[in-house]
Amino acid sequence: MNLNSRSLALLTALAVAAVLTAFLALASYFSSEGLMVALVLVFICCFLLVYFSYEALVFREIKNLYSSLEKIKRQEYKKVEGRSIFTADPLRKIKDDIFLIAERKQQEIDELKHLQVMRREFLADVSHELKTPIFAAQGFIHTLLDGAMDDPAVRDKFLQKAANSLDGLDTLVQDLLSISQFETGVVKMEKQDFDAVQLMREVFEQLEQKAAARQIHLHLDVRPNEKVMLHADPNRIRQVFINLVDNAIKYGRDGGNIWASFTEGRKRYTITVKDDGAGIAEEHINRIFERFYRIEKSRSRDRGGSGLGLAISKHIVEAHRSFIAVKSELGKGTTLRFKLLKAKAA
Ligand code: ADP
Repeated sequence: MNLNSRSLALLTALAVAAVLTAFLALASYFSSEGLMVALVLVFICCFLLVYFSYEALVFREIKNLYSSLEKIKRQEYKKVEGRSIFTADPLRKIKDDIFLIAERKQQEIDELKHLQVMRREFLADVSHELKTPIFAAQGFIHTLLDGAMDDPAVRDKFLQKAANSLDGLDTLVQDLLSISQFETGVVKMEKQDFDAVQLMREVFEQLEQKAAARQIHLHLDVRPNEKVMLHADPNRIRQVFINLVDNAIKYGRDGGNIWASFTEGRKRYTITVKDDGAGIAEEHINRIFERFYRIEKSRSRDRGGSGLGLAISKHIVEAHRSFIAVKSELGKGTTLRFKLLKAKAA
């Protein structure tokens, strides 16, 4: 017999009614009609009582639990209900637990799906970025092999172009390596005390020619002999300074200006790099730190950008427990700033 709440109630009611009627039959003052009525009444009451208790309190709850389990099996985590009509504690606890597990599994699945999409996009971006310099170098070398080698002027020009493409490829691979190291968390900051003014001066010297080529003026806003002693990883911070100043040159206007300044706080210095270049439209501002994100793809590529500079800078600054803030207005310029801890002695 298939055991459900109705058949269980039927059996229980029959048993109770039979026992009760047997007892009543022993008491001689009940007529046979009376016994019949008692039997029917006890049976009906008992049946209704037991049926509704089983149905409402046990079977419906268990049915709910099983349907939740079924949905978990089918991985339909979102459809698992957390609501319970039953207030008895053990069953509610089981149901709550199932609901919790389902919720956690759903989160894990959403996260994995998101990671999968990101990985796919990253692979597509990487292959696209690698293709450009490889194809360029390949083209120059094949043209040389096909006869261009005989003309010394063409040969030198093409060899130089192939070398430039391979240099770009090298930078790209280094940047990719840095990004992947930061993302797997294997990069350790080698913190020490150093003078950030001196570091910025060196970066300005390194990029002086690039700025001069577009008549861009570099300004170091510090007092004579001023030192800004920081406690951070100088090599990594140099990389951030280079990325910010290099971007300010690349996306600055011809004949424009770039200012670097340091503002002292209680525990930290704020480092600011500002330009009066093209600026960034509001819809792009929050995205410029994403890997491979470029606003004007063709223009940025012409100027040698891989779209990884700011992503790496963000990682470096975050590894110093800080963040980079950006403020920009189209046509007016861009300001990037971040804070770093002062040197202990300072
Ligand atoms: P890229 O190698 O292309 O320069 P970045 O990660 O350094 O990559 O920068 C991402 C994008 O942000 C750039 O392609 C550019 O469009 C924009 N950007 C960065 N810095 C500036 C700036 N100072 N002024 C205007 N746009 C900027």
